[in-house]
Amino acid sequence: MSVRELVVLGTASQVPTRHRNHNGYLLRWDGEGILFDPGEGTQRQMLRAGVAAHDLNRICVTHFHGDHSLGLAGVIQRINLDRVPHEITAHYPRSGQRFFDRLRYATAYRETVALTEAPVDADGPVAATAAYRLETRRLSHPVESFGYRLVEPDGRRMLPGRLAAHGIKGPDVGRIQREGGLGGVSLEEVSEVRRGQRFAFVMDTRLCDGVHALAEGCDLLVIESTFLDEDEALAVEHGHLTAGQAARVARDAGVRHLVLTHFSQRYSDPEEFERQARAAGFEGELTVAHDLARIPVPKRR
Ligand SMILES: [Zn+2]
Repeated sequence: MSVRELVVLGTASQVPTRHRNHNGYLLRWDGEGILFDPGEGTQRQMLRAGVAAHDLNRICVTHFHGDHSLGLAGVIQRINLDRVPHEITAHYPRSGQRFFDRLRYATAYRETVALTEAPVDADGPVAATAAYRLETRRLSHPVESFGYRLVEPDGRRMLPGRLAAHGIKGPDVGRIQREGGLGGVSLEEVSEVRRGQRFAFVMDTRLCDGVHALAEGCDLLVIESTFLDEDEALAVEHGHLTAGQAARVARDAGVRHLVLTHFSQRYSDPEEFERQARAAGFEGELTVAHDLARIPVPKRR
């Protein structure tokens, strides 16, 4: 069975706290695992969350601040120690190649894994599989930062009533799907578009065009809300979002499930992020992330 879920490995911004590890998120998408922004301690958080090195196929880094990338050294050494048999691809801003090189080769170890470096330097598609297309958009932060968006190709949903009306049944249903038509009946006449699911990962950034483009129509949106609304001036200055800003983006983009994360250690009450997100008018499903949470991609409508 295909599993699509987010496994939250860490939710702290700049500094970890007693309750929050540095960032880290694993997206399980059918048979694949995509690790986003492994901060310090990600290897151990993977263990606690039941995520193995073998589960990883792709690593996506938004930018080279420590809370989003210091875990690369440990994770890369672990996938080599465990001799992961498949290729793993790493995406990260090309402008940070020197940081990636240092983290990849931080200490001595035996390289056993095919790790492909696929640096990002522009908006657009960076990878495609049968299950998704991976795209990037530039964000706005003191160091170059890219957000990621995963889009499943649209499919078609067969309509039993129309099939019956045309007398199409049994193996002919598969045939019309494969061949696009059968006996003068087109696939379009007996099916409708089934929109592909969409996921986006947005951090770290102040409000910009990229934030809105990434969030557009997402089933599941993971977005930073480092600050509460009363500290908006700080958010703008340091290139971050507030809970209300993130929620308004999600509201305007028609997001179904909003995950807020990357919290500043200055706040002690996570519920305040939820209150401010609701006050901003977001009415979909809302999760204020905590470490080791598992969040399913919402079922298709
Ligand atoms: Zn950060």
